[in-house]
Amino acid sequence: MFVFTTHSELRSFLKKQTGSVGLVPTMGALHKGHLSLVQKAAENNNWVLVSIFINPTQFNNANDLAKYPKNMAKDLELLTPYNKKLIVYTPNDSDLYPKAINAKKYDFGSLALHMEGAFRDNHFNGVATVIEALFRNLKPDRAYFGEKDFQQLQIIKALNDQLNLGIKIIGCPIIREIDGIAMSSRNQLLNKKERNAAPIIHQTLQEIAENNGRWDVNYMNHFFKKSVEENFFLRVEYFFVAEEATLIPVSHLKKQNDYRIFVAVNAGKTRLIDTLKLGRI
Ligand code: AMP
Repeated sequence: MFVFTTHSELRSFLKKQTGSVGLVPTMGALHKGHLSLVQKAAENNNWVLVSIFINPTQFNNANDLAKYPKNMAKDLELLTPYNKKLIVYTPNDSDLYPKAINAKKYDFGSLALHMEGAFRDNHFNGVATVIEALFRNLKPDRAYFGEKDFQQLQIIKALNDQLNLGIKIIGCPIIREIDGIAMSSRNQLLNKKERNAAPIIHQTLQEIAENNGRWDVNYMNHFFKKSVEENFFLRVEYFFVAEEATLIPVSHLKKQNDYRIFVAVNAGKTRLIDTLKLGRI
């Protein structure tokens, strides 16, 4: 395993190597969801480059940033099976933000207007700023992102196209715990009661998907809120059904179109997001 804290040292190391590089950007507190991306990158590239950086500009809440879980020693341990082809990049703020720790402004049209774009002010400008810096500084051949953050994945594809960066962006399926909860670093912040309650989110999404074609969007929304909020610890922040290509929320489903449900739920002080693709009607 090769660990670098500056992109210039990392680039000069890579210049001496041959073969393709697959980048997996993360904020650390790694779990099996992250490792599935690492595994995929390891299968398709000579080198896997995992970045571990909690990006300040994508947090719109200082407290959320301060309490974001961190455990570098455990992260490195989880990555040891990939030892031989693994490069870990753990920069300081100044390596990615040499001038000031500010988000740039981007225009992703409808992709960034709704869901996380509407509920987390400036979030995607922050995400795009750090991903642009990672892409330009590290110049990977491929980059791997989870469908857990489906809106982010679509925005990064748009960023890569807009800036002509020529990186192949690969989306990877959501990895879930046995009880259905989407794996997330934030799950560590849940207390026992919140953790026990959280599986209802995915269970309800599945029930809605099973009734696709019979239930309209309004009823889906009503059903989700009722089912989830029956639990005292869970409060729904949003429920949307949006077109996959544009990420514009809809209230009616057209035949032969691809739609996906997007939800955000507060479990106590922890904010959980999830998404599920709807079958075509
Ligand atoms: P994060 O560290 O939360 O910024 O996530 C880093 C990458 O891992 C992002 O591309 C996420 O979408 C992806 N990821 C996080 N959780 C999961 C999961 N449960 N399944 C698949 N990918 C995930």
